[in-house]
Amino acid sequence: MKLLLFDIDGTLLHANGTGRTAVEKALSDLCGCSISTDGVTFSGKTDPAIMREILEANGLDPADTLVRDALDVYEETAHAAFDPDTVDALPGTTALLDRLAPRQEVHLGLLTGNIESMAYRKLNAVDFDHHFAFGAFGSDHSERHHLPPVAVARALAHTGHQFRGADVVIIGDTQHDIHCGRHVGALSVAVCTGRYARGELAAHDPDVLLDDLSDAEGFVNAVLG
Ligand SMILES: [Mg+2]
Repeated sequence: MKLLLFDIDGTLLHANGTGRTAVEKALSDLCGCSISTDGVTFSGKTDPAIMREILEANGLDPADTLVRDALDVYEETAHAAFDPDTVDALPGTTALLDRLAPRQEVHLGLLTGNIESMAYRKLNAVDFDHHFAFGAFGSDHSERHHLPPVAVARALAHTGHQFRGADVVIIGDTQHDIHCGRHVGALSVAVCTGRYARGELAAHDPDVLLDDLSDAEGFVNAVLG
């Protein structure tokens, strides 16, 4: 039995910058001044970690209460501004999920820095949401390496199966995805469909490194054996 935990942005889909615009508007409204996200990389980070970093970069004290308020305002702003037409599924993802979903020995989950409601909103835009009954989200913890145990606990609640070690596979497009599950013995599958080139991801030694998810059979062979 395998638990496959998919990242969203840069792995399953591209939301084409809508998040950054919503974050800037939300934080500017909340703080009453112009907030810039220039120089802050979002890839592989959780939404609360991104908020904290932006507040700091703009000379503001990222106190926990401010970060919580920022996430609330961001959630509202992001939903209001969301345009499903700007979301693109990445190559091969539709076919891969359709191929994995019926397999009895495979359970699909999410492991994403998105807050939960935006995660499902983005997935819904490309009709992927029905594949994912559970997951771990940026709204669960600000540090990505705390998310694998959350996802495993939710998988247990949902499937009745306790997934351990290499039965857990984390698929993502950044070094943060590669590293986050190491402390629980999870396998990592890195894909080069985000901001990072093959060589940059290879330097972090993922268990499997794929250009993209377009080769469903190759994925199944590499990951499920
Ligand atoms: Mg990502």
